[in-house]
Amino acid sequence: MGSPDRTMKPNLAEPIQKSEVLPPIINLKPINWFFDVNRAMSLWPVTFGLACCAIEMMSVSMARFDIARFGAEVFRPSVRQADLMMVTGTVSKKMAPALVRLYEQMPAPKYVLACGNCAISGGPFKFEGQYGIVEGVDKLIPVDVYVPGCPPRPEAILEGVFSIQEKILGVRLWPQPEVIPSEPAPKKPLRPEKEAEPQSDQA
Ligand code: SF4
Repeated sequence: MGSPDRTMKPNLAEPIQKSEVLPPIINLKPINWFFDVNRAMSLWPVTFGLACCAIEMMSVSMARFDIARFGAEVFRPSVRQADLMMVTGTVSKKMAPALVRLYEQMPAPKYVLACGNCAISGGPFKFEGQYGIVEGVDKLIPVDVYVPGCPPRPEAILEGVFSIQEKILGVRLWPQPEVIPSEPAPKKPLRPEKEAEPQSDQA
């Protein structure tokens, strides 16, 4: 028997494919719906942050944004207990094999949220001649939802979680966010205008 491969060098030339989930033995629509609602309302993200966007992910779990309201607050230290990977930050080529291995260890069905411009496309580190960054995590693993921003606001990350729930269920569970029409910014002069000096009466 050969020794297990511990080199952690997956083939990064092709992104790995989304795992197929076999249909359940009892394939009845109401029962599937029941399990899907439970699955969507209890997403367990893996505790996994790569750079500054991870701070936004942390703030999503704090009191102000409180991801617990939507059932996704149980950040798991083991990928074997998680079904959501939020890729928050810059994916370096050195980190890529570990990221792929972590993804492969997650049980299916599993979902991936690419949070921030670095995870989507390399962000500010994408330039001609760069050699250290993977220009988009979708070059490694299948991504379900993209959340743009540098960094994205915590509300945007919540919207990403809602989109994953919508993907599981086929319907949106939460009200659409209110669209507030933006007002034009008041025009300010570049330099404050000098007040007119009072005219002296001496002539
Ligand atoms: S997208 Fe911006 S905030 Fe997020 S990891 Fe990259 S540089 Fe940092």
